[in-house]
Amino acid sequence: MDYETAEQKVKLFLAKEGKFFTRERKKILQEVIKTGDHFSADEMLLQMKSDNVDVSRATLYRALAQLVQAGVLSEADFGHGHAHYEVADEEEGNHGHIICKKCNKVVEIRDPELASLFSRLCAREGFEVDSFQLQLFGHCSDCK
Ligand SMILES: [Zn+2]
Ligand SMILES: [Zn+2]
Ligand SMILES: [Zn+2]
Repeated sequence: MDYETAEQKVKLFLAKEGKFFTRERKKILQEVIKTGDHFSADEMLLQMKSDNVDVSRATLYRALAQLVQAGVLSEADFGHGHAHYEVADEEEGNHGHIICKKCNKVVEIRDPELASLFSRLCAREGFEVDSFQLQLFGHCSDCK
């Protein structure tokens, strides 16, 4: 997702909430779009510090939650006790992750067969699935 698309989504979301797209929210959005990788709130805080963007931890946490609601970020639990975020990819759709329990390496798994498998399983239960989260845990080739 490019910055312009993300900003549009955020503005729409904030307007519905009766909130404004402040300079602070813009800075945060720019930093978030810049990453191109999975990040935790604390990692983002570090990145922002090194870019001399000054926001409080509480503000960043709130902003990240809003970005998830606005559809700009997706959130995943890698079993670290904190959330991980990444910019949502509308074209490629959902993907899963394989996480090394020892070194925390994260590999993405993208396969259209996953979506069709999940659709089939859900249809069997009378559900229509529109998104999924899949995290697999194990040990990478370096840590085996
Ligand atoms: Zn983590
Ligand atoms: Zn590993
Ligand atoms: Zn991912």
